[in-house]
Amino acid sequence: MTSLENLPIRDDLRGSQPYGAPQLPEGIQLNVNENSFGIPDAVQAEILSEIQKVLGNLNRYPDREFYELREALSDYLPNNPALEQIWAANGSNEILQQFHQAFGGPSRTVLSFGPTYSMYPVIAKATLTQYVEIPRQPGYTLTPEYVTESIREHSPNIVILCNPNNPSGTSIGDDVILAAYEATDGMLVVDEAYAEFSKQGSAISLLENRPRLVISRTMSKAFAFAGVRLGYMIADPAVIDAMRLVRLPYHLSSLTQAASIAAIKSSKLMLANVQQISQERERVAAELARLNLRVLPSAANFLLVEGFDDPRAVFDFLLSNGLIVRKTTIEGALRITIGTPEENDRLIQLMPKALASLD
Ligand code: PMP
Repeated sequence: MTSLENLPIRDDLRGSQPYGAPQLPEGIQLNVNENSFGIPDAVQAEILSEIQKVLGNLNRYPDREFYELREALSDYLPNNPALEQIWAANGSNEILQQFHQAFGGPSRTVLSFGPTYSMYPVIAKATLTQYVEIPRQPGYTLTPEYVTESIREHSPNIVILCNPNNPSGTSIGDDVILAAYEATDGMLVVDEAYAEFSKQGSAISLLENRPRLVISRTMSKAFAFAGVRLGYMIADPAVIDAMRLVRLPYHLSSLTQAASIAAIKSSKLMLANVQQISQERERVAAELARLNLRVLPSAANFLLVEGFDDPRAVFDFLLSNGLIVRKTTIEGALRITIGTPEENDRLIQLMPKALASLD
């Protein structure tokens, strides 16, 4: 056995830490913004039957261009984008990585507004792209003027706007997205991982005549399909052509394609709990606010909760009671995913005890 330091690894990776949200399969997992509701029985049956169809052909490589999956996505998405405008990969993380491979790289820059999704700098680093993070304005908001000024100052090759933003849950309007598009000569990615929880429409409606705009989405959140790993993006067909230059051939397995097709075709059932999760979010927010904590307005399936004197101790107390939330880089804050009503009840019950344990 050796250690990493002794290996001839790339110098810029020395001392880096891998992404590593802890996993707690036996407990209440409110730390990675999954959908806590399981897959409905009826959809499980559909998934099985779709997988059954491909089992006899697993000796063959999958459809490299996943046309049937694109058709299902096109039917599901607002504005029914053309198949040539749709691309998919193993989670939106892989979408973002392929995107950086094509549009980022050495001597190129990606700009985002933090605090934001913790994988952006990791993906930038892995693809040798320089990462610039501009602080958000008070309340984690962004104005068109601020975004324009920041982009003009840094002239990035890629801008990422996370909407709703992880970890704050806050949203930006189309005016901010349009200002960012106008301000950059590079590519603009709107990461809509949590879009189905938001009342705001998708930036998909802005795609026409904007070939440098890209919408990234995932089935891991509202769709309750994190275990399958299916992310996708919608953009000008030329952008999809660029993704094809860097993707590994046959990157989406036949099993992934089959399961995803079945789930998307059952989107009504798969998304049945979205409204309830949003209602639960408001209930949990109100309960936590009663404890003198500051809860940011959220359009996603999680809450950023500020005002903890010792968030680490609160995290540890909850963990020792079988419930895991997310530490953040924001001072005095924890991020909490909204679970089932029972899971949320448990959180609401434990939180005052966690705070009292610090006194
Ligand atoms: N974007 C954002 C903003 C996220 O929060 C996440 C998951 N936490 C992702 C992308 C990636 O999710 P996945 O790879 O499961 O699609």
